[in-house]
Amino acid sequence: MIHLEYVDRANSVQTAPVVCMHCDQPTCAEVCPADAIKRTADGVVQTARKPRCIACSNCVLACPFGVPEVKVELKMMMKCDMCYDRTSVGKKPMCATVCPSQALFFGTREQLEQLRPRSTPVNQFQFGAQTITTKVNMLVPKTGKAEYIYVTAALNETTIGKEITLNILQEAYD
Ligand code: SF4
Ligand code: SF4
Repeated sequence: MIHLEYVDRANSVQTAPVVCMHCDQPTCAEVCPADAIKRTADGVVQTARKPRCIACSNCVLACPFGVPEVKVELKMMMKCDMCYDRTSVGKKPMCATVCPSQALFFGTREQLEQLRPRSTPVNQFQFGAQTITTKVNMLVPKTGKAEYIYVTAALNETTIGKEITLNILQEAYD
């Protein structure tokens, strides 16, 4: 399950899909008191296991990417699990299958680099002094040498009207 978030609701109808980044060391799982979130051997962080989840929202608060959502009516957390029922048998996740602009792509890093020659896939994120690495990559412009995305630098960015720009790379070069 993925959900959509407004990027700047007061000024724009622009939305962005919130997919799990499948962290190498998932904070969501580390803070779960019920051990309800499992990471598979191939690095996919699963959604909450139904009998275990107590809907405490610890994972919601802890995830640095704002991914998990507690479904109050179901009394459990649900999040993107990379459509593991599909991807574990060689199919693409549903979001990447239906995305008309291929903003979401599922494949190997080599395929991605071939498809987007002007971009660099990055899977390292800096939150202040903390570094998080993920299975999922984000694409950044190939200019410069972006080894990581400095998330903290984007927090103070202001938006102007419908133009949404996040200066996440400039700080990373400093
Ligand atoms: S992005 Fe959030 S929900 Fe996904 S594995 Fe990382 S901490 Fe867990
Ligand atoms: S909401 Fe469920 S999955 Fe998330 S931390 Fe609490 S028990 Fe674990």
